[in-house]
Amino acid sequence: MTLAEDSILVLLDTTPSGELAASAAELLGAAASVGTPVAVVVGDANLAADAAALGAASIFVVAPSEGPVAANADTIAAAAERVSPDAILVSHSAEGREAAGRYAARSRSAIAVDTVGVTRDAQGVVAHHSVYGGAYNAQSAATWGALVITVRQGSVDARAEAVASPAVETLEVGKPARRLARITSVEEAMVASSRPELRGAAKVVSGGRGLGSQEKFVLVEQLADALGAAVGASRAAVDAGYIPYAAQVGQTGVSVSPQLYVALGISGAIQHRAGMQTAKTIVAINKDADAPIFDVADFGVVGDVFTVVPQLINALEAKK
Ligand code: FAD
Repeated sequence: MTLAEDSILVLLDTTPSGELAASAAELLGAAASVGTPVAVVVGDANLAADAAALGAASIFVVAPSEGPVAANADTIAAAAERVSPDAILVSHSAEGREAAGRYAARSRSAIAVDTVGVTRDAQGVVAHHSVYGGAYNAQSAATWGALVITVRQGSVDARAEAVASPAVETLEVGKPARRLARITSVEEAMVASSRPELRGAAKVVSGGRGLGSQEKFVLVEQLADALGAAVGASRAAVDAGYIPYAAQVGQTGVSVSPQLYVALGISGAIQHRAGMQTAKTIVAINKDADAPIFDVADFGVVGDVFTVVPQLINALEAKK
């Protein structure tokens, strides 16, 4: 396989059922904006076609040895040795973080975690971070070698063009010299919701303490359904038992970067903003005109959620 000078190695996550994870499109989009995307994926050879459709110019496929195996540091190491990439992009998922961290430590590479984008300057690839609850944008780059970059899910809009005839190669990853935890079985937890998953959702509607009770929190779900959005919450709403912890957005919850974030009855504490401030458009509805959420909102409505939101839902339904 002939590889481009400006290759960017992209480790693609797979789902437990063996498909490419949703993060693949944005990782390849980000890679294409700074170089030539070279994907590495653990799983079925058919995944190469899916990766090419999302913009991978070359694809290394690693056959899983036994049982369900997440891509690991050995996979990155084997691919990086073949590719000599300018940078290595990995999803900021649990699996991606682990693989990227282990690989960086082992290869003594620089690592940039939880980034929200990449660019290239005269010296190489630059990672962009949103830090201190989104109050500052920071940039980082490696002084030498390929920077290992984990990319926050949902933060990159760029998408790469499909590649019609990609180069595909099977990559052998030798038996790991170190002891590894092995996944012995995977059982999908039954999610009783047809709503999109919060992490990586394009639209999120979140509710806070202002909703007042678990029963009244249904309003958040109704607006989410009218918009086709995922449901999120502030910690106060979670602590009050309106919704399980899995929905918590913020410093000690999930970080989201959707196209649209709607905050209902949420004051906008720094710890909440840390998890949603990189949303492309923020809409806040709060009866307190001085609530800090309005400092970060693109559109704000000062009003009672129980008056404003039903009208909003009616207007959305009427448009359908
Ligand atoms: P409140 O601050 O009580 O705000 C409720 C808002 O609802 C008010 O602005 C009020 O005006 C409005 N309101 C009330 N009734 C109505 C109505 N009828 N119509 C319209 N508006 C109404 N918080 C997080 O969210 N996520 C985190 O991950 C997180 N991590 C934390 C970590 C640490 C270490 C600490 C110390 C705190 C953390 N917090 C986190 C808590 C955070 O500081 C706030 O306490 C929390 O975000 C407040 O939630 P809230 O906005 O729903 O509640």
